[in-house]
Amino acid sequence: MDAVRVARERFEAIVAVDVTVADRGELDRLVSLVGQVRSFLDSVEVAVGRRVKALAQSSADASPSEVLGNKGRRPKPEAAAAGARPGVCDRFPGFDDALANGTIGSGHVDALAYATKGLDDATASAVAGFADALVNAAAGSTVAEFERECRNLVELLTGDDGSSTAERQQRDRRCNRWIDKKSGMWKLFAELDPEAGAKLWAALDAHLASVKQRAGNSEQPLERLTADALVECVTGSRPDSGDRPAVPEVSVLIDWRTLRDGLHDTSVHELSNGTTLPVASIRRMCCEAVIVPVLMGPDGRPVDVGREMRTATRKQRRMLRSMYRSCGHPHCDTPFDWCDIHHVVPWEQGGSTDLHNLLPLCSKHHHLVHDGGWRLTMDDQRAVRLRSPDGHVTIDGPPVTARAASPPRAA
Ligand SMILES: [Zn+2]
Ligand SMILES: [Zn+2]
Repeated sequence: MDAVRVARERFEAIVAVDVTVADRGELDRLVSLVGQVRSFLDSVEVAVGRRVKALAQSSADASPSEVLGNKGRRPKPEAAAAGARPGVCDRFPGFDDALANGTIGSGHVDALAYATKGLDDATASAVAGFADALVNAAAGSTVAEFERECRNLVELLTGDDGSSTAERQQRDRRCNRWIDKKSGMWKLFAELDPEAGAKLWAALDAHLASVKQRAGNSEQPLERLTADALVECVTGSRPDSGDRPAVPEVSVLIDWRTLRDGLHDTSVHELSNGTTLPVASIRRMCCEAVIVPVLMGPDGRPVDVGREMRTATRKQRRMLRSMYRSCGHPHCDTPFDWCDIHHVVPWEQGGSTDLHNLLPLCSKHHHLVHDGGWRLTMDDQRAVRLRSPDGHVTIDGPPVTARAASPPRAA
């Protein structure tokens, strides 16, 4: 077999190098050869996994991942990934050969496995229809790039930009508190969706940095300082807060086309650590001052959009405060200070950051209009009309300005 001969030649070339005297160019070539031989060996394991499965008489027999883990001396997660590869290679013709030839690595196969995990049969076979294109894409990209390409393809085929995952994550967010009777320690356990998590992380990291600076703290364990930072953040008891902004910024990454028109085949819509966020959520976050959307133009370079253009200025907030005592939804009494300043015509669609286009909305109603498919319009008398996703008008004025007939409370 050709792949075997090539792998053997590559192995010979590897052992012929004296690493102790090699220069950088030789080291680069060596590492690339090692990677290619490793891919070949991974393809052998794919065949082994298939054969183990075929030999198994009952479910009590060892699984491919057990055999590859135990005999191959692999830690569990690696063994699990290796055990899953035969299945992926069966579903996506071409990946097996590409692995044997060393044109892709097992990381590419794992990325594909991850992106297609849990897909229904129809979508999975739709993805399989792109097997040739995917092999080519894998051969020409790093694992991280390929992961993104797989994700984009699955998003396009399912029409799901991560909204269903985000919905589940938001539904599952929780925080448990209890006091341990034995130790007397107060305990806290929280699970957060990525959007909430990123905001908390940013706040904690920003404050932790200043806690670390305090005298005597350089020797303290990080866990203890993080606990201090958490308590001070939540209770507002910050000894050294000065006039730093109270809420640190969170960056999200999105490209113009996606922001304006929705998903396309090279869509980017994620947190700075790569976690996917639904496009509608990012559009909502664009109304928030604490979110910094990093917009990318068609060439993949960041487009500079100043915050001044995007979010309400302090002066505009004060003006709005004098017009609204609470959320701009006529039947909502969430206080103004807890509201985001929403652009009635979204700024990515040309809506201006001018008073006539700005409306305070509480978190619930802000979510409704960005993520819930509701449509909010406002006429020049500031009468608000809200249409449910099926077109039913739920509220229609009276002008909310009437609510501010009495003079606003002194700020
Ligand atoms: Zn908004
Ligand atoms: Zn509201």
